[in-house]
Amino acid sequence: MKIENWICAKCSFIGPIDAFLFIPDPRPEPNARGWWLCTSCDEIDCVTSACDEPGCARKGSCGFPSPTGYRRTCFEHSIFNHGSKAHKVNADWRAMQEKLDHESKA
Ligand SMILES: [Zn+2]
Ligand SMILES: [Zn+2]
Repeated sequence: MKIENWICAKCSFIGPIDAFLFIPDPRPEPNARGWWLCTSCDEIDCVTSACDEPGCARKGSCGFPSPTGYRRTCFEHSIFNHGSKAHKVNADWRAMQEKLDHESKA
């Protein structure tokens, strides 16, 4: 799944990747890597993927598969937080897959 939103670790500005500025590396390959610049606070190299939960302004530090595709969210919204909605959805989804698996073998 494509990461839709990116976040600045410094000022918490969130936007699609087009909202940030890419600065190409003047060094030749293979050392060239380039940097992302935050257009909101001008900090460099502070851009990281954001939590894909709508309305959440945290960094997407957890990645996991889900019924709707691969997700990247903050810990709070991930399946690793046992109180989260994603955890519940994941548990139900797995239980259903196991059931189907079981039925197809029977
Ligand atoms: Zn920023
Ligand atoms: Zn979140």
